[in-house]
Amino acid sequence: MSLMSKEESGPGFVGIRFCQECNNMLYPREDKENKILLYACRNCDYKMPTNNNCIYVNKLMHEIDELRHINPEVIQDPTLPRTDDHPCPRCTCREAVFFQAQTRRAEDEMRLYYVCCNAECCHRWTE
Ligand SMILES: [Zn+2]
Ligand SMILES: [Zn+2]
Repeated sequence: MSLMSKEESGPGFVGIRFCQECNNMLYPREDKENKILLYACRNCDYKMPTNNNCIYVNKLMHEIDELRHINPEVIQDPTLPRTDDHPCPRCTCREAVFFQAQTRRAEDEMRLYYVCCNAECCHRWTE
């Protein structure tokens, strides 16, 4: 059974920028507090705003799209890990199935997806 649709849709690529301090490649990073996207260097502390809200919006749309593609039947799968530390934001059910995103994009590799175990709800969310 596939957890996610295989089609990788949405804009993952936002252009290449280079650090003005050390000339390494900058990676897009979310500033959750200010809800903007930054380019950040992994080698030093250099950060640069993207000046482009579209990128952030596109990223959010992409996330929503991925959530839609999660098969709600995963809550029946006994091989998937469960947690009671992440109550469902919709129905407050304490049990949720969770798994890592199956995408090819490195920035998403560590992202966890949760599916509410309440069969009436099946709410899907991500951190
Ligand atoms: Zn740098
Ligand atoms: Zn729920």
